Amino acid sequence: MGSPHGVKPKIGVEFVSLDGSPGQRSLMGDFQTLRARIFQRLQTIAPDCEDVVMAGVNAYNVGDYEAALAHFSEAISGRPVLLDELAPHVRSCKRALLAVPSKADILYRDARSAWLRLPRLLRWLRRDPGHKLRCKYCGHYTLFIHPESGVAYFGMNNCAVCGRGYPVPDFAWDGIDGLAYIYYRNSVTEDAFYAEFEADYDVHPNRTHFMKSKAETGAETVVCVDAASDAGQSERSDRQPTLGAGRLHQQAEKTNERLQRWQERAYKK
Ligand SMILES: [Zn+2]
Repeated sequence: MGSPHGVKPKIGVEFVSLDGSPGQRSLMGDFQTLRARIFQRLQTIAPDCEDVVMAGVNAYNVGDYEAALAHFSEAISGRPVLLDELAPHVRSCKRALLAVPSKADILYRDARSAWLRLPRLLRWLRRDPGHKLRCKYCGHYTLFIHPESGVAYFGMNNCAVCGRGYPVPDFAWDGIDGLAYIYYRNSVTEDAFYAEFEADYDVHPNRTHFMKSKAETGAETVVCVDAASDAGQSERSDRQPTLGAGRLHQQAEKTNERLQRWQERAYKK
């Protein structure tokens, strides 16, 4: 992606909390608030762009990269201040759209489309091909797994095609804060993720910071453990819309609820 302004944004180990106080990345407070933080920032920097941004968010979260890219591009062209916030998503869209559909992709897409067109009663009699989305890295279809479920390090949340961790698009996790959480927590195995993050952002210190600090203090070594293992199911539903995040956040919560329903449906297979 590179830096859109020629200068890499600085992403250190501290983030700014919703109340303006500093927090430490990769810890529970980071996990619990990163969704709210990105929507609060978007509302602050471009309050007049809610509709077009949210249209992009909703398209992105269902894997409709074509529509998401169109909405994000429109938002950025109207309000260039959105560029830094939306740059990671624009890149994911463009990357996924580069993929040439494989034979498996076409077979799945056609089978799923045919199944969805069936009358509800007939769906009970025909096998559902399952709910898949195009991976945000390789662009091929992979089973939907909620980005806060499973541990990519243990192969529990990886693309069935390219193997990369947390392949399903998620607007919050794919924004700067989500990426920074993964970076400082070392949540994925692939070197490409870390190289890409360091190419895009001025990181100081680098991703070994929390590994070193835990080793020095004798605290429990927590390396390569992802958000889900810490946060757990109960805290997943504990996202707090705070400090006037407004309609953007309400719509984001609706998107979250829809993601949860998909997850439940996927696990019934
Ligand atoms: Zn993939």
